[in-house]
Amino acid sequence: MRKIGPYVFEPLISELELEKIIRDCAQWLIEEVDENTLCLIVDKGGRPFGERLKALIEPEKGRWGSLRVKSYQGTESKGDVQFLSRDFPSPEGKSIILIEDILDTGLTAHFLGSYFMSQGAKSLKILSLLAKPEKHKYVLPEHKVGKNLNDTFVVGFGLDLNEKARDWKSVYSLKKIDMLNLVLFGPPGAGKGTQSAFLVEKYGLIHLSTGDLLRGEIKAETALGLEAKAIMDRGELVSDEIVIGMIGSKLDANPDAKGFIFDGFPRTQAQAEALDSLLEEKGESISMMLSLEVPEQELVHRLLLRGKDSGRADDQNEEVIRNRIAEYNKKTAVLKDFYGAQNKCKEVIGVGSIEEISNRLSEAIED
Ligand code: AMP
Repeated sequence: MRKIGPYVFEPLISELELEKIIRDCAQWLIEEVDENTLCLIVDKGGRPFGERLKALIEPEKGRWGSLRVKSYQGTESKGDVQFLSRDFPSPEGKSIILIEDILDTGLTAHFLGSYFMSQGAKSLKILSLLAKPEKHKYVLPEHKVGKNLNDTFVVGFGLDLNEKARDWKSVYSLKKIDMLNLVLFGPPGAGKGTQSAFLVEKYGLIHLSTGDLLRGEIKAETALGLEAKAIMDRGELVSDEIVIGMIGSKLDANPDAKGFIFDGFPRTQAQAEALDSLLEEKGESISMMLSLEVPEQELVHRLLLRGKDSGRADDQNEEVIRNRIAEYNKKTAVLKDFYGAQNKCKEVIGVGSIEEISNRLSEAIED
């Protein structure tokens, strides 16, 4: 099993099987190649396959070159291929063999076929390590395929996911996508709410803020809201039982989520332990805790500023603000050790422009 971010891959074609497939392709190539042949490796994906083939056939036979293209989807006109690089002699009168990693929709192969024929090539064939016949959408030139696959997302041996996995020695297929569960951590005013909006947008996560949930209860004048209001107005923490119950029902209500951002939760060791158990019941876990680091003076300044239009009583009184920060230091800050012990805690500087902080968070997540 190998992972790229939340993507989990399982082995599909071993090195040994790959070698057999490539030898079979090399045999086909040996029979095809003559003095008039131009073998063109389609970079970057076709590179490992092409290099291996080149080593297996007599190099003096035929000529080799390479190219890299950008193909345009949704246009049928001929020659709509933009070369990002090209390293080959004139194709005129040549029998061209394009060496590819995979024939998927067939878009690149289709357009390259049209392009080379319009440039006076004598013939054009494709040698592709892999193919997904179910997904072919374009008319393909004559082709030889090493191995046909079902419609599964594959990486390795030239095939990439955002430029990763090209150098893997064998081919893997996507097994599942893990949930990305983030604890966005930091004292009141650290920017957790602001940055949550960015993370929701970027990673498609569900934002769970216990503060927002409690304020929702207060607004709806529920019994729970009435109980919580006085405590929140003083800047103290409401009971673990209440917030754990709220988070538990939100997790149950979103079984298909790609992941969650926990904002303002957990705030105590008991909450952190409860969260681990709730996730464990679902076969999930916290991916990481991102701790926004902001000096206390800046926090007070930001909260008083926010209090001018947030309408939040607890943002308007400096004494309450200092009390919230004290509660954080007394009961919540220890959670850095809790997640640190699991090797999941990352500190991110929470001062600077919103965009700068967002970039730091993305880097920490994708690292
Ligand atoms: P926040 O919006 O996260 O700043 O939370 C506002 C207030 O809601 C806090 O000062 C607490 O009184 C209460 N609260 C929010 N989340 C929690 C939590 N996880 N545990 C206890 N109290 C919380």
